[in-house]
Amino acid sequence: MESATPVIVAIDGPAGTGKSSTSKAVAAQLGLSYLDTGAQYRAITWWMVNNGIDIDDPSAIAAAAGKPEIVSGTDPEGPTITVDGVDVAGPIRTQEVSSKVSAVSAVPEVRARITELQRSIAASAEHGIVVEGRDIGTTVLPDADLKIFLTASAEARAARRSGELKGADVQSTREALIKRDAADSSRKTSPLAKADDAVEVDTTELTLAQVIECVVTLVEEKRAGK
Ligand code: C5P
Repeated sequence: MESATPVIVAIDGPAGTGKSSTSKAVAAQLGLSYLDTGAQYRAITWWMVNNGIDIDDPSAIAAAAGKPEIVSGTDPEGPTITVDGVDVAGPIRTQEVSSKVSAVSAVPEVRARITELQRSIAASAEHGIVVEGRDIGTTVLPDADLKIFLTASAEARAARRSGELKGADVQSTREALIKRDAADSSRKTSPLAKADDAVEVDTTELTLAQVIECVVTLVEEKRAGK
């Protein structure tokens, strides 16, 4: 395979495993596009909250799922996310959205809508794309050239995430992460899961630079082997 041929990389795993940092850096290093699918689910959740939709009512969420227009910019050096033209990169990271996103993303109509969007973005990425999420290797892009599943201990994940949230309490961050992972892993429609053909990388004892190097090497091996 020529290095210019599009390559599709799926990176899944629970929160706090370094998915976003790894995916962005790998995409930037290899000249690929980058899609943060968690940001899309957060964006639709933000819209539901802002429009007074009852998050505890799946039928209300389903009925509204087609309304917001969600647009993702896929440059790994500066990814963007808008809802109906409004930049929501900041508002989608609040505790409120984090605590509600699992309920919204469990609704099949929401998943169908966002999955379709993800597939069309991946198909139109000229040089290929790194797509990060929970169900990319299993459901969204089952034919991806390379599938990675990142894991890390709950302690390591909570410590990283509370560092990102600038000193948030590690214990409550750990509890919130575990709760969100349990909801994401146990939902009926495309739960968080490792694809059978995914390479599992435990990042607990690795630096970010080591994880990036590991994934870049795996992509290059795939490209060379084609
Ligand atoms: O990756 P991030 O933590 O921003 O994802 C936020 C939430 O979006 C997850 O907890 C999950 O509920 C949902 N999500 C999903 N499927 C994906 C990506 C994210 O259900 N592919």
